[in-house]
Amino acid sequence: MLFSPDDFSIYVHLPFCSKKCPYCSFYVIPFQIAKAKAYTDLVKKEWGLYRSLFTSKKLTSLYFGGGTPSLYPEGICALINAIGEDFDLSRTEITVEVNPENGSQKLFDTLKKGGVNRISIGAQTFDDALLKKIGRMHTAKETIDAINRCALVGISNISIDLMSELPGQTHEHITHTLDVIKTLPITHLSLYNLQIEPGTSFYKRRKQLEKELPKEKVASEMLINCFTSLEAMGFSRYEISAFAKEGKISKHNFGYWIGRPFLGLGASSFSYLDKERFQNIPHIGKYAKKIDSGDLAINFREKLCSQAALLELLALHFRLIKGFDLKAFQDHHGYLPKESLVEIEKLEKEQLIEKRKDLFALTPKGALFFDEVAPRLIH
Ligand code: SF4
Repeated sequence: MLFSPDDFSIYVHLPFCSKKCPYCSFYVIPFQIAKAKAYTDLVKKEWGLYRSLFTSKKLTSLYFGGGTPSLYPEGICALINAIGEDFDLSRTEITVEVNPENGSQKLFDTLKKGGVNRISIGAQTFDDALLKKIGRMHTAKETIDAINRCALVGISNISIDLMSELPGQTHEHITHTLDVIKTLPITHLSLYNLQIEPGTSFYKRRKQLEKELPKEKVASEMLINCFTSLEAMGFSRYEISAFAKEGKISKHNFGYWIGRPFLGLGASSFSYLDKERFQNIPHIGKYAKKIDSGDLAINFREKLCSQAALLELLALHFRLIKGFDLKAFQDHHGYLPKESLVEIEKLEKEQLIEKRKDLFALTPKGALFFDEVAPRLIH
């Protein structure tokens, strides 16, 4: 998968939430309007420090994630304006993550007027008892209403996030969620399984929660049910965890999988530029101090040696369900070491990878066990 050397993306991290979800491991802080306003100004300043590096580049996608960006839409519009001074945004995919409980007509109107053309709604599940169990603040009805309002306002590119392997989740929950999805005007869907990460309140209760998680066989059957039903609804699985209607793949996420450079703005955001990965300080006060004094707020930098970068990129390419041309990959990004080619052959023999005409791709079994395939490609 190739991209023009001028293409790049921007990710803006807005770390404010009304309440921290018990499974969340992101850097988030309680929402306060005054803090959100001041933070917007800081991100503008930060962009000011970078903008000269990107003159004559093409901004393929601009993504506002969090946190809960939908708590302060005026800030998003101000940032689109500021970044828009440097680029023609008419063909840029501009996505905002929205929490269902914020999904009013006013919110979508404001975002549309501000230039947003894609919304990603954190639905998670359409079962109220499960939503409560994972500490979400919205109901299934609020999600349905938010999606319909968004479409009515005229933002027709709508993605939802769904979660699988939730404590207490059954086949009936999945079937119900899929039945609701059938009725909704959505174009894209990302499906993640719950991860119980250290530092979260779920982690403290993990022993109890783990007893309630669906067993491995049941979890796999539920996933297969999702894949089959989504295909039948016209969603094509184009990446391990992403499904899209025709022409609606996420340009932004696609960039991560093909190694398109991206700049992260805001506290804790990651960037990947010139084979270097770096992260901003994950603390709003320290981030503010740096930006206010005209410095970048970088916490760590990691120059990936060319081989490590190449192998990471290889594993990311294998996330693409249709596969990719290994020869074009090597012509564009560099030649793989012999051991990697041997490993690919082994994975092929184990029927985790297959060759379809000129493309290398995961088999359905490989896609189900990608967490085991990826480390073998990287090492
Ligand atoms: S709304 Fe999203 S970012 Fe905020 S706490 Fe919940 S999961 Fe984390």
